[in-house]
Amino acid sequence: MSNKTNEILELYKSKLMPTYAPSVVIASGKGVTVRDVDGMVYYDFTGGIGVQNIGYGNKKVVEAIQTQAALFTHCSNLYANVPATLLATKLVEISGLGGKVFFANSGAEANEAAIKLARKWGAANGGRYEIVTFRKGFHGRTLATLAATAQAWCQEGYDPLPAGFAYADFNDLDSVKAAINGNTVAVMLEPVQGEGGVTPATDEFMKGVRALCDEKNLLMICDEVQSGIGRTGTWFAWQGYGVKPDLFTCAKALAGGLPMGALVSGAKLADVFTVSSHASTFGGNPVAAAAANAVIEVIEEENLLEKCVETGNLLREALQGFVDKYDKLLEVRGKGLMLGLVVDGDPKELVDAFKGQGLLTLTAGENVVRFLPPLNLAESDLEDAVDMMSDALDCLWSE
Ligand SMILES: *Cc1c(COP(=O)(O)O)cnc(C)c1O
Repeated sequence: MSNKTNEILELYKSKLMPTYAPSVVIASGKGVTVRDVDGMVYYDFTGGIGVQNIGYGNKKVVEAIQTQAALFTHCSNLYANVPATLLATKLVEISGLGGKVFFANSGAEANEAAIKLARKWGAANGGRYEIVTFRKGFHGRTLATLAATAQAWCQEGYDPLPAGFAYADFNDLDSVKAAINGNTVAVMLEPVQGEGGVTPATDEFMKGVRALCDEKNLLMICDEVQSGIGRTGTWFAWQGYGVKPDLFTCAKALAGGLPMGALVSGAKLADVFTVSSHASTFGGNPVAAAAANAVIEVIEEENLLEKCVETGNLLREALQGFVDKYDKLLEVRGKGLMLGLVVDGDPKELVDAFKGQGLLTLTAGENVVRFLPPLNLAESDLEDAVDMMSDALDCLWSE
């Protein structure tokens, strides 16, 4: 590490609470690459953790932000703004759910809104409030979304957590049935579990949850915070399963790097929230909304849903090649460009080795290396990244 990186990281460590442990200081980004403060360039296959779905510094997004910022950056929700109104219209259109949208500023907040809406609906429909969520799921770090996140490592030390959640096993319909009781109002799941290990729901499971929710008059809530905005080859991952949720949330990639979350409902739940029953000062911020409109436009204009599937297949094939070659690599899983490489051992070892070659990746769960590259990744950039992985694996494991 050279001077500037060390200097900033020392200051960082002395002044920021140690919730994160960064080793790189980013100065700029372009497309799939980021440059650190010492000029080192990396291929970023973390995508800012599923945020940069169209890469860094997209011209359309930058221009949309600049134009709106010069007009006004905020006006409160006492007044309407054009970008957020158009964005809601677009989200309703691309979801095909025929409902309405509530805007928040993050994934956790969008999920918090979904939980509140489900409870409000449940209060008027049999006094029900309990939500079934899944082990290895991830829904955020606010107290309610943390309670929804059935993972001991992030809940530890924060008792008492809000009540009203029951946990089931992912891809196990019987365990969902067992978790349902007279108080249950909803089932909430990630169609592809991200943080928990890049595990897609099976077709059978998604359809089974939908049928179960219909049968028991429960709401099906999809958390699309990581899997949404084209990441798996459809706008939202649930669209790849031929089922419709009652509610879904998105955030990470929605506004091209600006903080924004959205809760989208079907028609049945469009007017459950009423005036003053929920709110957010910055929700529907016009600059974030303008950026989001540009992101969606770029995905449409550049056919990135199709491209995501094609590039996803190429990356999957390359990763499968590594699985075939190395005994310590067990499996490739995921959907589209949300892919995981399952490792027999600590995935951190691989993430560090890839970084050493100039490729940034993430871990997920206990034994998965996660890849979230931009949907518009050029084939030559993919090839470069595969070469970096190949070199890293050779160094690590070839005798
Ligand atoms: C990242 C994530 C969240 C939390 O989003 P924040 O913006 O960090 O609050 C919620 N759900 C899923 C599936 C996520 O991946």
